[in-house]
Amino acid sequence: MLERFDLHGAPVTSLDLKCLLIGNGMKYPDEVYQSVASVARLEPPTNPFACNCIILPGEVAVHLQANSQSPFALALDEDGKACLFHEDARLTEITFPAASAYYGQKTSVGTPFGSIAVLEGVSTLAFFYMWKCQYIQTKETCTFCFQVVADIMGYPLPSSSYDEVAEIIKWSIENAGVREIQLTAGTLFTSPEECKRYADLLRAIDERVGLDKIPSEIYCYMTAPKDPASVDQVFEAGADRVAHDLHVWDSSLHARYAPGHARHIGRAGQLRALEHIADKFGPNRAFSAFVAGLEPLDSMLEGAEYLASRGIVPAFSIWMPTPGSVTADTAPPGLDYYRQAQKQFAYLYRKYNLDPPGAAAGSHVSLCRDIYRHRDALLAD
Ligand code: SF4
Repeated sequence: MLERFDLHGAPVTSLDLKCLLIGNGMKYPDEVYQSVASVARLEPPTNPFACNCIILPGEVAVHLQANSQSPFALALDEDGKACLFHEDARLTEITFPAASAYYGQKTSVGTPFGSIAVLEGVSTLAFFYMWKCQYIQTKETCTFCFQVVADIMGYPLPSSSYDEVAEIIKWSIENAGVREIQLTAGTLFTSPEECKRYADLLRAIDERVGLDKIPSEIYCYMTAPKDPASVDQVFEAGADRVAHDLHVWDSSLHARYAPGHARHIGRAGQLRALEHIADKFGPNRAFSAFVAGLEPLDSMLEGAEYLASRGIVPAFSIWMPTPGSVTADTAPPGLDYYRQAQKQFAYLYRKYNLDPPGAAAGSHVSLCRDIYRHRDALLAD
């Protein structure tokens, strides 16, 4: 049974709230930060680049996107507890991940850990941009990608060495309760080179940390290679899973939101690569994220069923409107859209025996692990 909260007379679950909060952000006043700073992993509101997180009842992690215009707000209730409010009505008490010394650490060459990888939820370490995306050169970057925006605007994003990646993983497993590692980097036009880099990196992590020391799993978000077999070396080097994200199923919207992928690989090429993994390495080893809200529900669900029926895990990310992007003028979908999507993804995970990536409290903007953990309750509704 999923706990429900009263949103002005409408009962909503933590999963519903996660969808609404990522689409709308929330007010984040300094008094909330001050009240929990000593015990919570939380950066102050003055740091706009912080990767903060709140945790809703049911262990549902939500990215804390500060937005002073949002109808949702973090505030202290009369007992001094941090709570989530909607237009002054208290919805629920919230918690935060436990305080960690992670963001005070630097690699042995002096790079702050936080500029290379962030902590998500309670136990995920996410490397977000290990090398530059070459779609910048052809102005074909994906419309919702934060990393390339920062790169194009000249923010100093460090290119981490394999040694630094391994060092951060080792420290985080030993000191920050990390159980799961996400590796992400930019697209390289020569896909065999991108696959080789991931394989080399995994071997370096194995040598310096031991892949068997990762309590849950390690997976790579990669560009689908032109020759699908190029990815074999990544699995042989120890990846538990590989993602080739489709983002949307509709072909024309795919070209609009992910122009580089659409022109250089095409949806057919992405599907060929995903199906190669499922055929060669079995179900649950390939996954691909849809960004809920970017296309009509029927279209997204058609794509999710296509993948699921082939043993490829459809993942569910929630669209976070980005100022200045081509999606900025589009309103996020309503709760009905998200609820139907939650239920259908739960149905697909159960029907095809699929197990999406993610550890406890999941990731900040993806709902797939939350749906999986609460699939029985969603389907019983
Ligand atoms: S390919 Fe990856 S890194 Fe490049 S723009 Fe798209 S999401 Fe960003």
